[in-house]
Amino acid sequence: MSVISIVIPAYNEAENIQEIYERISKEFSMLKEDFEVIFVDDGSKDETFFRISTLTLNHKNVIGVKFSRNFGKEAAIFAGLHQASGDATIVMDADMQHPVTLLHDMVDKWQQGYLIVEARKMKRQNESAMYRFFSKLFYKILNRMAGIELNNLSDFKLLDRKAYQMISKLTEKQTFFRALSGWMGYRTCFIDFEVADRLHGQTSWSMKGLFKYAINNITSFSSLPLHLVTVMGFIFFVFAMLLGVHTLYNYFAGDAVSGFTTVILVLLILGAVLMTALGIIGHYLAKIYDELKNRPRYIIEEIKGVNYGED
Ligand code: UDP
Ligand code: MG
Repeated sequence: MSVISIVIPAYNEAENIQEIYERISKEFSMLKEDFEVIFVDDGSKDETFFRISTLTLNHKNVIGVKFSRNFGKEAAIFAGLHQASGDATIVMDADMQHPVTLLHDMVDKWQQGYLIVEARKMKRQNESAMYRFFSKLFYKILNRMAGIELNNLSDFKLLDRKAYQMISKLTEKQTFFRALSGWMGYRTCFIDFEVADRLHGQTSWSMKGLFKYAINNITSFSSLPLHLVTVMGFIFFVFAMLLGVHTLYNYFAGDAVSGFTTVILVLLILGAVLMTALGIIGHYLAKIYDELKNRPRYIIEEIKGVNYGED
């Protein structure tokens, strides 16, 4: 009998833990596959890990991983994939926004031979116009720059053992799970779903957090911004030549004093361009620096579950 691992990153989700386990369990009672649930507590400040531990005592198929602090959802997903041992793994949120009723379809598709089953968000509920605008912009830029077509993909997906083991072998620290599954190129199919409302708690994403996330993801998949610096340099070189000739002509023609406006404009524009360029280069340098330090992506404080001899 095949086993499906379910990986659930959880940050301050105490109210949702028991509920999501029950829903998954109910869904699998209608399937012939076995399942295990791997909860990764991403340094929650509430009772999340206590609830997970309680579950591990009552159910043999639950594993609880506790991070020493908040390392972010990406890290939590990867920690879950490392622990997974199923023939396939499904990654889903703890807040019930990813409907468990989709598990059935995902497993079906997997059995039809797809190595990756992507759940695609159909309708986005309760999202502000500003959020929608920026997320659209982000996907457009990502598509243009890195050639990644993400249109409404989520982190909710099924990965065959081959796929999730490949992903968890990647050594880079700054990953973008949502795009990596497509990057691998395995046989993929898509299922559409409607994003539900959060059951308990609130989203932990701030506007600033999302912005940082977007920039990081674009730059971890594309080095185009760096090449843009070269292009900007070239364009300004052409301007410099033209202006140089013009200035020299004026000088020799004997009317060199006017043109103060031009000087100021050139200074301002050049300053802005140079600063932006330095910023872009600095961002990549920081990324290289982070990768070079080669620190672990997360630190596990505790693991609970039948395989780990609890208490
Ligand atoms: N999450 C996490 N670490 C974080 C933030 C979120 O593991 O630092 C988890 C969270 O518990 C949930 C999932 O990632 O299971 C999605 O988070 P959230 O619902 O806040 O994001 P949204 O659905 O609004 O994109
Ligand atoms: Mg959510």
